[in-house]
Amino acid sequence: MQPLRGTKDILPNEIQTWQKIYRITNDILKIHNYKEIRTPIIENTELFERSIGNFTDIVNKEMYSFYDQGKRNITLRPEGTASIARALITNKLYTDKPINRLWYLGPMFRYERPQKGRQRQFHQLGIECIGSSMPIADIEVIKLATDILKQIECKEEYLLEINSIGNLQEREVYKLNLIEYLKKYEHELDTDSRNRINKNPLRILDSKYLKTQKILKNAPKLKQYLNKTSLEHFETICENLTYLKIKYTVNDHLVRGLDYYNYTAFEIKTKNLNQQNTICGGGRYDNLIKQLGGPSIPAVGWAIGLERLIILMQTNLSENIKKDRIYIAIQNLHTINILWDIINILKEYHIKFELDLSNNNLTKQIKKANQLKTKICFILGEDEIKNKSITIKWLQTRTQQTIKISNLRKYIQYLKKFNNLTEY
Ligand code: ATP
Ligand code: MG
Repeated sequence: MQPLRGTKDILPNEIQTWQKIYRITNDILKIHNYKEIRTPIIENTELFERSIGNFTDIVNKEMYSFYDQGKRNITLRPEGTASIARALITNKLYTDKPINRLWYLGPMFRYERPQKGRQRQFHQLGIECIGSSMPIADIEVIKLATDILKQIECKEEYLLEINSIGNLQEREVYKLNLIEYLKKYEHELDTDSRNRINKNPLRILDSKYLKTQKILKNAPKLKQYLNKTSLEHFETICENLTYLKIKYTVNDHLVRGLDYYNYTAFEIKTKNLNQQNTICGGGRYDNLIKQLGGPSIPAVGWAIGLERLIILMQTNLSENIKKDRIYIAIQNLHTINILWDIINILKEYHIKFELDLSNNNLTKQIKKANQLKTKICFILGEDEIKNKSITIKWLQTRTQQTIKISNLRKYIQYLKKFNNLTEY
């Protein structure tokens, strides 16, 4: 049996990396008053159609949608923001607090052609700062992305690209002019772009086709259509990024795939990874919550693709896993009560152990402990069990001693002092 195309098992030797990312994120975000939120993986299809937009790749071709037994049209979430906005409205989170700083980590689903850094089930870590239209919120959010990336230690250099895509009205005027310009070159555009002229012309700006890019060189620029408020918002962000020494470039072709953004759009990219070089994408979305039936609440956020991030991580954490643990060899007897007392003591002292579950004799079990390169083996043979004692064998020096269970706590305290036994 094979897993579904585009899905992957995350195996025990990889899980430490995921746990590390969770830990780092949780630590950094907690300091900044971001609260974790977990929303359902399934939502009404309509949620994504209404938020992401009907003319986007996600809604057009990438959604995992199906009818459930009750004939409801359901979709496995392709991204996090729409669900967060929905949860904010459903639970009226905005009534408790004017600002909701939220973060999430979980699987997302998109029907795409699987490649390196592109899966059908992948994971996003994302944050949303909901309730402020101030540029300072955009800066906080962008800074947090770079803080997290720094702490996670990527081996590749990455760069922030940023743009302002203005507000709805500004974009509408721009769109008309862009369409007018592109229509003149309609026959020279790539097929995707040609199809987008009327439906989603802004997306043509980030076309990867050279010929289309060449045509775009002389196209009207979105920036020229922005009014004072939009421009000032953007300038404040850029000035503060410079102060924070966060390197960035302004990419005036950056429009992002989703419909709901306004003002700020940004991506963090690496030089490598071929096509899949965007690790983080985000922006401001002041109209989404209202569009979904909530009050008018501005917001800004981003999402990081964790599979892409992990490819870039510096240290291979699986090598760092401390392997040492106490091996417990036990004779197969009926009465083994003291075993549970021992295990409880180990748990109390946070000491990792592995209990032999084979039906092998003690010699074989000790051999196994040797193979695993553990330093210490606890032996519970017939005599030990009868006398409520335990034999502690040091496998490297081949010395051993038998102590009473009542003295085990003291022994472990002594062990912990000069032996780096792994705590879990
Ligand atoms: P791309 O242009 O690579 O398809 P996108 O614009 O569709 O990316 P977003 O919707 O902005 O991506 O999602 C944010 C991040 O989630 C991306 O920058 C990427 O790191 C990650 N991501 C998106 N789709 C996938 C996928 N299919 N597999 C793995 N990671 C993904
Ligand atoms: Mg995509």
